[in-house]
Amino acid sequence: ADRSLLGVVGSSLRVPLVTGGESRYVNLDQAASAPALTAVAEHVAELLPLYASVHRGAGYASQVSTSVYESARGIVGGFVNARENDVVVFTRNTTEALGLLASAVPGETVLLDIEHHANLLPWQRGSGRIVLSADTVAETLERLDAELAARPAALVTVTGASNVTGETLPLRAIATIAHRRGARLAVDGAQLVPHRRVDLLRDGIDYLAFSGHKIYAPFGAGVLVGRKDWLDVAPPLLQGGGAVAEVTLHGATWHPAPARHEAGSPNVVGVAALARAVSEIGRLDADAWADHDRALRTRLITGLEALPGVHPHRIFSDSADAVGVVSFSIDGTDARLVAAYLSAEHGIGVRDGRFCAHPLLAKLGIDGPALRASFGVGSTEADVDALLGALTLFLTSGPAWRYEFVGGQWAP
Ligand code: PMP
Repeated sequence: ADRSLLGVVGSSLRVPLVTGGESRYVNLDQAASAPALTAVAEHVAELLPLYASVHRGAGYASQVSTSVYESARGIVGGFVNARENDVVVFTRNTTEALGLLASAVPGETVLLDIEHHANLLPWQRGSGRIVLSADTVAETLERLDAELAARPAALVTVTGASNVTGETLPLRAIATIAHRRGARLAVDGAQLVPHRRVDLLRDGIDYLAFSGHKIYAPFGAGVLVGRKDWLDVAPPLLQGGGAVAEVTLHGATWHPAPARHEAGSPNVVGVAALARAVSEIGRLDADAWADHDRALRTRLITGLEALPGVHPHRIFSDSADAVGVVSFSIDGTDARLVAAYLSAEHGIGVRDGRFCAHPLLAKLGIDGPALRASFGVGSTEADVDALLGALTLFLTSGPAWRYEFVGGQWAP
């Protein structure tokens, strides 16, 4: 992992430091949004002069846009090895994709207590039942099974990889449990899809949601891919042109999915970028890709554990694999101050906060904000070492600059 796997834009970006001078920008906040692949940026630049309204335009640009947009469905479906009859709905992001699924479920949904808010809040509207996770994945799956045995559900929804700790869940095993109890499985793939090959067919995943901006594509396009039947009859995500077959003044006949849920002019460039990103990522050797990610993670965790008072967080004692997303706390230290220092004095971008997972942070006993470092295919060992070096300096000599807490954040 001393080299990046693929080229990304912004890797030679330089940023000003408060101490004077400038530094290479070290982007360790890729779980929030990942930098576009160079190939994606080139594709977008090629497409910009040609983008036009899809589906209805007769002109050349409209035809190109329609073809790019519609062929993206097959590319995305192929990338995650969707079943032949699965549908790919383009949304704004994972949040919208999961919200759409929540409105389509014909029954109750069972979920764990470790989810990102995007896979928690939509189920709070009435149809969600929460299983409390245990210390181990193994016992958590037993609890899940017991819950489904006690009362049936239509859907089980879990995160593929935690956006707080990077730990993954055994999706194949969860699918088996869900299916045996008559439920389908949905996976919030926002953090898993950018780090590991996901295979719907192999793992028995019925629905998968993910975001383009976390898988090396700019602009707001996301995906819900999965079984068509529920989505064909669910209330349309938006009401408007494109989603309807026939309209009278007081009624309408809606198309089936995906058109049903894609009313209005779609984000053609965003979808084209997403499709190019997954084609590039899909060409990586799956093991080399995962090894690059694991090597960086191991290097970071080992380095953090060697620092006094620094604690990486984890949910389970037996999780088998984890992606390049690591959150940690430093004893007696405000995470927001550390994050401000890393940026202002070292040009390192991490994230501080509660990571849209307030119940999980509470469960882990983290009171207040924590720090999170996350990487991707453009990351290198030098990025990890830059962070470890800066944290060492912080712990030994403290910030060189004076910081003040104003407007809810620390600033030099
Ligand atoms: N789920 C997980 C696990 C995430 O990490 C995120 C993004 N932080 C989301 C859902 C939501 O993604 P988006 O903001 O693109 O809708």
